[in-house]
Amino acid sequence: MTAGLPMTVPGPGLPARVRVHEVGPRDGLQNEKGVVPTEVKAEFVHRLAGAGLTTVEATSFVHPRWVPQLADAEQLFPLVRGIEGVRLPVLVPNERGLDRALALGAREIAVFASATESFAKANLNRTVDEALDMFAPVVTRAIEQGLRVRGYLSMCFGDPWEGPVPVEQVVRVCRRLRELGCDELSLGDTIGVATPGHVARLLTALGGAGVPTGALAVHFHDTYGQALANTLAALQHGVTTVDASAGGLGGCPYAKSATGNLATEDLVWMLHGLGIETGVDLGRLTATSVWMAERLGRPSPSRTVRALSHKE
Ligand code: MG
Repeated sequence: MTAGLPMTVPGPGLPARVRVHEVGPRDGLQNEKGVVPTEVKAEFVHRLAGAGLTTVEATSFVHPRWVPQLADAEQLFPLVRGIEGVRLPVLVPNERGLDRALALGAREIAVFASATESFAKANLNRTVDEALDMFAPVVTRAIEQGLRVRGYLSMCFGDPWEGPVPVEQVVRVCRRLRELGCDELSLGDTIGVATPGHVARLLTALGGAGVPTGALAVHFHDTYGQALANTLAALQHGVTTVDASAGGLGGCPYAKSATGNLATEDLVWMLHGLGIETGVDLGRLTATSVWMAERLGRPSPSRTVRALSHKE
């Protein structure tokens, strides 16, 4: 074992390569109370790209009042667009957001739907179907412009108001998002309550309903320490796109604990230990998260970042 790298022992039935969809600059920072300067965000994106991440969700074109942290999307995006070999999706809630993203040359967008009525109401002040109706023209226009469209689906396993979410309910919304034209669906465990059997059951049901596994990504939160176990279950099922946030930045305001997104370093440690290629340089990524933690004034919650940056 080399210091700073896991031993590599491949496991059976796993993909050769995984694409990490890095959400730190958007999902990670959006709940930060202190506004991070635009130049720091831009440097964060460039450092992540430099560490080998090929998809970095850059920012969000929601109304600045909703997410003040990301109100600088117009200033930030021109500072990061065009990084060679890196996809830079941006979150878009409606047609106005799409107009803003298109004006800046975004080539990839994401819309965010909910699997449950309670969260659709809390997050979007709409029913699940009203939210989908709102996204329909956004997705259609984006595809006409040649953009890739990802559909985020929140509360795929449990909901803070409704409890366990029936698999059939998630499958129904996934199918609607595919019908709208989303080429990738990110299955979100927004409050982190999924366990591996539940993940396998949902993925099996989606396959049975005709949703191709290649169109799926998983987005786990580590609230109860299950994110990596759930990820492994998804990999065994053929999923090859995994969302994660550098340094474990970001949480869910609806989850009880502050622990949020799966840390990219923890994910990459496991993937490389399994001999799965990611293209990520774990040392450079960890250095980036240590740098960002200094900017935010508190240590990263990632176990791997802590272990690799620990000084005797
Ligand atoms: Mg998240």
